[in-house]
Amino acid sequence: MSKRDYYEVLGVSKDASKDDIKKAYRKLARKYHPDVSKEENASEKFKEVKEAYEVLSDQQKRAQYDQFGHAGANGGAGQGGFGGFGAEDFGGFGDIFDMFFGGGRRRDPNAPRQGADLQYTMDLTFEEAIFGKETDIQIPKEETCDTCNGTGAKAGSHPETCSHCNGSGQLNQEQNTPFGRVVNRRVCHYCEGTGKIIKDKCRTCGGSGKVKTHKKIHISIPAGIDNGQQIRVAGHGEPGVNGGPAGDLFVVARVQSHEFFERDGDDIRCELPLTFAQAALGDELEVPTVHGKVKLKVPAGTQTGTYFRLRGKGAPNVHGRGQGDQHIKVRVITPKNLSDRQKELLREFNEISGNEATDEQQDNIFQRMKRAFKGEA
Ligand SMILES: [Zn+2]
Ligand SMILES: [Zn+2]
Repeated sequence: MSKRDYYEVLGVSKDASKDDIKKAYRKLARKYHPDVSKEENASEKFKEVKEAYEVLSDQQKRAQYDQFGHAGANGGAGQGGFGGFGAEDFGGFGDIFDMFFGGGRRRDPNAPRQGADLQYTMDLTFEEAIFGKETDIQIPKEETCDTCNGTGAKAGSHPETCSHCNGSGQLNQEQNTPFGRVVNRRVCHYCEGTGKIIKDKCRTCGGSGKVKTHKKIHISIPAGIDNGQQIRVAGHGEPGVNGGPAGDLFVVARVQSHEFFERDGDDIRCELPLTFAQAALGDELEVPTVHGKVKLKVPAGTQTGTYFRLRGKGAPNVHGRGQGDQHIKVRVITPKNLSDRQKELLREFNEISGNEATDEQQDNIFQRMKRAFKGEA
């Protein structure tokens, strides 16, 4: 079987730079890696790509290959052959690892890191959400230990670099597979990934460098907040690591529902029950709003489903952009459990009305229904 040209395999030109070769290799290795590839003959192609890269990435081997072709590359000059993939100097595995296991963002355990964000759910009544609230909350949090300043080491001592992982916090485990040597990287269990070993632990924090406390934080809930909205309190999350900034605290509003009002953004909605008589005759009545009672004039002949708007009686906009309204939807309540006297009056009313409403609009509805019965519609 004739071997493909290594440059062809990687899809690079004869004068490709080291970087170009590396880039091409990464791209192809990702494409054909047998663990992830759906390509046909992926493992064959992966091997081919690896072999090509192994040669072309090595200056000396590349020079031999350029001069003698495959014969030169395959151990012609006593290189011991690099058909197998156990060679110590094979740089490709680290690259593969980086690509497939997130190692490209290999974490330096000693780098400053921002602390985790905390979330706190705050229960609010319907009215509290509308008018805002000033309150203190107690949140459990981890703080940097004062005794050791977060190092975890007893006064006068210092954490030492972990000798097992040389401070990287990770251990490599090598495994030979049909595709070559695979490196598994795992958290160093000697130092638990911190890269440091503390021999004399701080007594206050037991070596963790952090202590659990409760912290009282003052929270201003802005007027007009709605269910699920959150307030960011900067710097009140968990402390940073290795001198990184603290995380943030997010206070999430959980607003109780109201038995009469309903929030709709900045607006408030409610239903206004009217008796048949009130709706027919009209009435002046008082309507509750979160801002207090408001007089409402209901005109005679008001129908179920009619809306009234009370301007500015909603919630303030949480970003300070105006104020919502209260929308009132009329619901005419049909009376139940009538007394004999009430029934008598309603029958009389019905007789006078000729079983039809006299109102123009209702007339139309009744006429439309009649026509529908006769199939005239
Ligand atoms: Zn370690
Ligand atoms: Zn401590």
